[in-house]
Amino acid sequence: LTDVIARAEREGHAVAHFNVSELATLKAIAETARRLSLPVIIGASEGERQFLGLRQIAALVRTLREDLGSPLYLNADHTHSIEGAESAAAAGYDAVVFDGSKLPFAENVRRTRDAVERVRSVVPEMLVEGELGFIGSGSTLVREVAPGVAQRPDDLTTPEQAAEFVRATGVDLLAPAVGNLHGLMIGPAPPRLDIPRIARIRSAAGVPLVLHGGSGLSDADLGAAIQAGIRVVHINTELRVAWRRGLETGLAADADEVAPYKILAPAIAGVSGVVESRMRLFRRPR
Ligand SMILES: [Zn+2]
Repeated sequence: LTDVIARAEREGHAVAHFNVSELATLKAIAETARRLSLPVIIGASEGERQFLGLRQIAALVRTLREDLGSPLYLNADHTHSIEGAESAAAAGYDAVVFDGSKLPFAENVRRTRDAVERVRSVVPEMLVEGELGFIGSGSTLVREVAPGVAQRPDDLTTPEQAAEFVRATGVDLLAPAVGNLHGLMIGPAPPRLDIPRIARIRSAAGVPLVLHGGSGLSDADLGAAIQAGIRVVHINTELRVAWRRGLETGLAADADEVAPYKILAPAIAGVSGVVESRMRLFRRPR
């Protein structure tokens, strides 16, 4: 995964990161990435891991990687405890997001540094991502921005904080708050990213940047963010919406149909469509 991200850095594109909590979504992502011959990162947050099983997801991703012969990586997304990060390392995950973004800066630094040390003592080559700036939690439909979410320019991550955080913690990747937020905004206008800030943070931090909350952003903002130094883009809510719409279509098509794999076929098709469109966008020459 380190090499994949280094290559994205050299070539100026971004690697797609999609979350899963059940098999239909995972199949849709893995098969689409295989068809496009592109590497992809599968993410599982604490809630998603709890539902599908920490080790079960690792086994599914490992066997899909073997059977499809394609580069699938697994990330323990938004991990809030050091024990959780260690368990993901022991279960064979390739990367972990240690999320101290709700903590005061000094506490976030201290806990993230501990997580880096403990994870590396289990799996030295595992990638650890740190988070700076709170961008909300939950991949849901967002009607109004939750209190505490960094949106005003004064609350966004600064290049100085980013440099200090990376130096003090030793993280491999940094997720800043640059106008992005978790979930999918239902409203008149999507959130806008602070593109010049992304470029300044990238240059100050000295590590590749990860953009969380990629759902609902405009293609133009995503393209500009990648040009400014974003190397991994997280998409979750857009997949969940496509899954639900597909499931509704599958259920409505035939009230007597009871085979899950037939009912779920439109959900897989819908998720695959989102996956393909985002993966192509992130690779577009710019
Ligand atoms: Zn996230």
